[in-house]
Amino acid sequence: MARIYADNAATTKMSEAAKNTLLRCLEEGWANPSSLHTPGQIAAERLQQARQTIAACLNARPEEILFTSGGSEADNQALISLAAAGAKKEHRHIVSSRFEHHAVLHTLDRLKKQGFEVTLLDVHQDGVVRPEELKAALRPDTAFVTIMAANNEIGTLQPLEELGAVCRERGVPFHTDAVQAAGHIPLDVAAQHIDALSLSAHKFRGPKGVGALYMRRGLPLLPLIEGGAQERGKRAGTENVPAIAAMAAALEESCTHQGENARRVSALRDRLARELSRIPHSVVNGGGSARLPGIVNLCFEGIEGESLLLLLDAKGIAASSGSACTSGSLDPSHVLLALGLPHEVAHGSLRLSLNEDNTEAEVDAILAAVPPVVAYLRDISPVWEALEKGERPYVIQ
Ligand SMILES: *Cc1c(COP(=O)(O)O)cnc(C)c1O
Repeated sequence: MARIYADNAATTKMSEAAKNTLLRCLEEGWANPSSLHTPGQIAAERLQQARQTIAACLNARPEEILFTSGGSEADNQALISLAAAGAKKEHRHIVSSRFEHHAVLHTLDRLKKQGFEVTLLDVHQDGVVRPEELKAALRPDTAFVTIMAANNEIGTLQPLEELGAVCRERGVPFHTDAVQAAGHIPLDVAAQHIDALSLSAHKFRGPKGVGALYMRRGLPLLPLIEGGAQERGKRAGTENVPAIAAMAAALEESCTHQGENARRVSALRDRLARELSRIPHSVVNGGGSARLPGIVNLCFEGIEGESLLLLLDAKGIAASSGSACTSGSLDPSHVLLALGLPHEVAHGSLRLSLNEDNTEAEVDAILAAVPPVVAYLRDISPVWEALEKGERPYVIQ
């Protein structure tokens, strides 16, 4: 059975460029970059090159890039560092949004227990934070703002430049979780007034377990891991140089081809959205908003997302019902609830996430597979029967 992978928002397969860089670095560049001997210095050189490459992709300075174990660690360290700096000035208010990744939301929960107050901005039905609502939420004691660049479940892009400008005007540090955005849309920390930014290699065809945090020069970084003096004392532990080099190669490749990839992938996404939304009582979540090239998220009334996924998997199609982090729990997605969808509809979601590896033929196959599976699940659904009999109203018209 030919397998179709349409879950690139959960993770991506490594690109050839990333794999080749990883293998090369395992041969030459595997030594400890803190060692003074020649092999160590070769590894240190690889590390420095990776730092420069990643900085260049973001329009940052190399010394502003900190390597981490991934997006979650970068988010944790950014928030904990900015909170600690705020607390020193008695600034204990934080502004974020309702549909952040759990790496942000759960860190905010921890900060709340430590006495911080958190305002979560509405994302409205279209999945977009409003800059004027951010402006109204800022207070004299706001320590920092964290709003994601692009949502991982529905793909909606946030107006980074406007949000950044609001923060800059008020002198409040602005962090963005750009884990889904990096490599897929243009990012420029200077033009977009971004003070801190998280990214993760495995979301742009690099390896898993490696990421980076950009923190603007002058802003404080608090280490989460104490130990050696790696990363200027801000992140102890011997660096995984081959993985870091592969991350840099993957990001450079994605950024170099960003425009052409986005055009090709968003055409595939638009076809999926257009054709699948012809299924009666379905909706494309965030469909009217600017979105990541690869993500389309739909709700089909009267069915369970999990059943849909399993039946698609049996047909060789790997998709998701939302975030990989919440599958396995029966709670509906906090992202879909934040859009104002009722629980029963939020359960019937399907996220298809494409990247440059996907083809027209694969989209054809997905378009052939999904409608009959939805029809089958509705046939055996008591909820659908009640809707069809008019015993309860449709939520999605
Ligand atoms: C995947 C993801 C993360 C977590 O990144 P890891 O590298 O898996 O820790 C954080 N934020 C967003 C938006 C993500 O999509």
